[in-house]
Amino acid sequence: MMTKSKRIYDDAVKILPGGVESQFRLLDPFPFYAAKASGSKVFDVDGNEYIDCLLSQGAILLGHGRKEVVKAVRAQADTCANIAVPTKLVVDVAKRITEYVPSVKMVRFANSGTEATMHAIRTARGFTGKDKIAKAEGGYHGLHDYVLWSIWGPFDILGDERRPSTAPFSRGVPKAVAKTVVAFPFNDIEATYDILHKEKDELAAVITEPVMANMGCLLPTDNYLTQLQKICNELGILLILDEVITGFRLSRGGAQQLFKIKPDLTTFGKALGGGYPLAAFGGRKDVMMELLGSEDVWPPKRWPARTYHGGTYNANPVSLAASAAVLDILADDRVYLHLDRTARTLFSGLQNAIDDRRIKAKVSSCGSMAHIYFGADEVRTVRQAMSTDWDLLSKWCMECLVRGVMFGHPKGEKMFVSDAHTSEDIDKALDIAGQGFDSIRP
Ligand code: PMP
Repeated sequence: MMTKSKRIYDDAVKILPGGVESQFRLLDPFPFYAAKASGSKVFDVDGNEYIDCLLSQGAILLGHGRKEVVKAVRAQADTCANIAVPTKLVVDVAKRITEYVPSVKMVRFANSGTEATMHAIRTARGFTGKDKIAKAEGGYHGLHDYVLWSIWGPFDILGDERRPSTAPFSRGVPKAVAKTVVAFPFNDIEATYDILHKEKDELAAVITEPVMANMGCLLPTDNYLTQLQKICNELGILLILDEVITGFRLSRGGAQQLFKIKPDLTTFGKALGGGYPLAAFGGRKDVMMELLGSEDVWPPKRWPARTYHGGTYNANPVSLAASAAVLDILADDRVYLHLDRTARTLFSGLQNAIDDRRIKAKVSSCGSMAHIYFGADEVRTVRQAMSTDWDLLSKWCMECLVRGVMFGHPKGEKMFVSDAHTSEDIDKALDIAGQGFDSIRP
């Protein structure tokens, strides 16, 4: 049968590479096109309904179309969209962020996680006067050239596990940039120390995700983050914690509250905007004040100027209105209790369903996000995570998708739950997950 999605796709491929607007949205044989979303569900143009555990790649924490958020957005749209002049909303949201995340003393806004990490890195470089950054192998920090390194690849390109090479993740990223990036192995604190110590005189910052959420859901082990922070302090390197996925999701204070660490800079995105484009970076006052100086007028009187930060759409009032509504709701502990309870039921149910069928797979979770590592009982390192059976994950995910649950994305995106997911959603999701497991068993 010719579906509406197929018809749209046939048109789309002529004018959009792959018929989609991001590599991650490609789907074989063609993607479905969404018509609307509400609460825990997404509906496609053919009227199919999906329980949504992709949740806009983690951006939707409270569910789609949460009424307080929609109301705030509507009211703001009536008042003004972007005017590139500060509004009081910017102060309200900044205050909330600094209140929820105490390591963040000062904050600036951006529009995407990519921008937030780019600005945070540049600020760290400006502040320290050094050029290099170190990133955890397997870590994802967005799309700019400085971080599209050592994310994924064949092991011979990635190099020695304990002394990884700086391996490009994409064509088009200048080879010269490799000289500014050093990779280190997450969860191997001795190897991490050796690398950072060797490079310390040139390193402005270390950037890492607290939970390697783009490598499935790889948790830090043996106090890795605390140790990493200590090493950074000792060696005089700034620690940038990329909380674009984990911020406001794993707890009100993000992963840093959960793992009790205090980074120098933090980046936020996704949940912060409640589905609208908004991101932020912030941290130590002395570091953030790098963005300001007496010479910070245009054109700069002294050259070079201090570290530059700008953007036409920074702190877009409509996104800020959504964010203020989200952050207000997050003041209520019940949100996190519900997220935790719902997540626990779903994720333990998935592991039980796997074990009942004697499938070798591990559900790895942290708060309201999880990933299934097929073909493994335990995963502690990035290389182990990369070696799990991502093809089988994709197959299972697809089997569930056609039955009405988006468990993340068949291309490997992990799953999330939202405040809008009900126990009926979870029962149904688990039922479909079981059918999915049955259908992929050899
Ligand atoms: N950092 C992390 C940890 C992310 O997961 C992502 C996106 N998945 C980004 C940065 C980039 O964010 P965006 O897609 O909004 O640019």
